[in-house]
Amino acid sequence: MPYCRYCDKEYPEPFEECPVCHHLLLPARPQWRPYDPAGPLVEVATVHGPLPAEVVRGKLEVNGIPAVIQHESAGGIYGVIVDGLGAEHILVPADLATEAREVLDLPDELDEEDELDEAEDIDKD
Ligand SMILES: [Zn+2]
Repeated sequence: MPYCRYCDKEYPEPFEECPVCHHLLLPARPQWRPYDPAGPLVEVATVHGPLPAEVVRGKLEVNGIPAVIQHESAGGIYGVIVDGLGAEHILVPADLATEAREVLDLPDELDEEDELDEAEDIDKD
C-alpha cells in the first residue's frame, strides 16, 4: 500500500503523491533496518534538484534505509551550479552506508520488476 513517510500514513488508492502533503509516496511502508540513531551520517550520493533527490531517498527508504537530503545552496562551498539548481547530498546512517550503495547500484529495470512482483503480493484490504 502506498505510504507517506511525512504523514506516517498508508493510502489505499494508487496515489503517486501524498494527497495531504504532496510528497512522493513510497510503494509500501518500509521495514526499517536497525541502525545506531546517534551514529554519524555519511553521504552516499549527490544529485542536482529536489525531485531526483526524493527519488533516491525513496529508493533507499523502501529498502528500509532512512535517508536525509542535505541541500547545498547554489554557489555553495563547491560553487557548482547545474541548470540553476544546487546540489542535494543524500546522507544515510554510517551503519547502513554499504547497503545503501548496493541499493543505489541496482539497475533501474531490475528495480521495476521487483516492484511489480511485490505489488502482486500486497493485499488490498
Ligand atoms: Zn503526506
